[in-house]
Amino acid sequence: MDSIRILLLLVAAACFIMGLKLLGRPETARRGNLVSSLGMLCAVLGTALVVWEGHGSFTPILIGILAGAVVGIPTAKKVKMTAMPEMVALFNGFGGIASLLVGWSQLHSMNVSGGVQFLSFFGGISIFLAMLIGGITFTGSLVAFGKLAGHIPTRPILLPNQNLINGAVLLLVLVGAVFFGLHPDQYWIFLIAAVISLGMGITAVIPIGGADMPVVISLLNSYSGLAACAAGLAVQNNLLIITGALVGASGIILTNIMCKAMNRSLANVLFSGFGAVTSGGAGGGGQEKKEAKSKTPEDVYYLLEAANSVVFIPGYGMAVAQAQHAVRELADILMENGTDVKFAIHPVAGRMPGHMNVLLAEANVDYDQLVTMDDINPIIDTIDVAVVIGANDVVNPAARDDPDSPIYGMPIIEADRAKTVLILKRSLGSGFAGIDNPLFYLDNGYMVFGDAKKTLEAIVAEFKED
Ligand code: NDP
Repeated sequence: MDSIRILLLLVAAACFIMGLKLLGRPETARRGNLVSSLGMLCAVLGTALVVWEGHGSFTPILIGILAGAVVGIPTAKKVKMTAMPEMVALFNGFGGIASLLVGWSQLHSMNVSGGVQFLSFFGGISIFLAMLIGGITFTGSLVAFGKLAGHIPTRPILLPNQNLINGAVLLLVLVGAVFFGLHPDQYWIFLIAAVISLGMGITAVIPIGGADMPVVISLLNSYSGLAACAAGLAVQNNLLIITGALVGASGIILTNIMCKAMNRSLANVLFSGFGAVTSGGAGGGGQEKKEAKSKTPEDVYYLLEAANSVVFIPGYGMAVAQAQHAVRELADILMENGTDVKFAIHPVAGRMPGHMNVLLAEANVDYDQLVTMDDINPIIDTIDVAVVIGANDVVNPAARDDPDSPIYGMPIIEADRAKTVLILKRSLGSGFAGIDNPLFYLDNGYMVFGDAKKTLEAIVAEFKED
């Protein structure tokens, strides 16, 4: 029985690693999900065997599975594609609180079976870290959820001397960790640190906002992995250590990619309160604004019909409008017309890493048509028409041109350099970072007001009437 259990857990670990590898490419991502699910099944069976061998009760496991299923299945079925980022933030948070509880219950079980005085220094530190990182991840993710869902202002909120206070509290808690490792019978340290960790999650994420949120989401994802890894060390479960380390490491890699996409260092994101000074104000350099010009779907039809090259630049608004199928249909018509069509994707477009890729893949857009920001920018001045679909911050020229802009320095897709740029959105309103966009007022820029899906369908209808 022992060897079957070990084999199951080994297969689970291998499935997780393979699943992660397959998830790295859109063509294999679906298979990656399946392989990872198979790994999870092996992990659950392996754990059940442990309980069975120890003549333990299956009741708590069954209650856990039932409670998870009752909450999880309807929520996952009901969640809209646009609310997926918030859901991911909540998943991270629940991962964090689970690790905190595992660490806590392990401390209690040590108490029951022989007393915490037998807890080694390493064991004590592992339990403490599972609680600490888990607590920070839990409340930090709840704040991120609130910001993404619009329940909390997206702009950074900085308290006076916040970085100093955060640093001092972190130091205090780390000293507490060492002390607890040496004196694990001092339960009060654990409890105080648990409360502090919950507060730290809030104070760590509240000052980060605006365009920096993608970095925070990836970092919290990584934290949830690290917390699970620490919980694995606390309960000496190799599989939990492996999966926690995988999540932690992939989260850090993603954080690094997001930082590069924003052209910022992690320290700068965490400690600078990007955009806090302007409090998400209008930004955009305060130059005198021109009138924004607009075009109707019929005007757009004539423009696109005559274009040799078109690049679509999707953003969060495409997800809101669910316009991915309509844009695919328009792209197909244009290609039949002999137009060169590309989709340029900014790494932080939408509300979660890879958001646009997922939507376009769902609409069966050919992967060969997808180009990155670095691929499109050098040739964008040769493009006849850039069609911005519900994107705003990721095409804001103020990030390149206006040193006073809160998002100055963030690389953008330079849609303004195309010969003509069409901006499909409902109003002149701002995007996630809450700042104005000079793109709307450029000589070569035209707004096409309305819901992106309806606008695209109207343009497609013009082509079909032709
Ligand atoms: P933005 O949030 O900057 O802009 C989206 C625009 O979509 C809005 O200005 C809105 O304008 C428009 N819109 C909304 N609904 C519709 C609709 N039905 N039809 C047409 N347009 C619509 O999006 P971007 O993708 O350009 O930028 C992403 C931002 O989100 C960045 O600041 C990024 O840092 C941040 N972020 C990204 C995350 C990630 O992981 N990718 C995570 C968290 C934040 P209007 O209301 O006028 O229609």
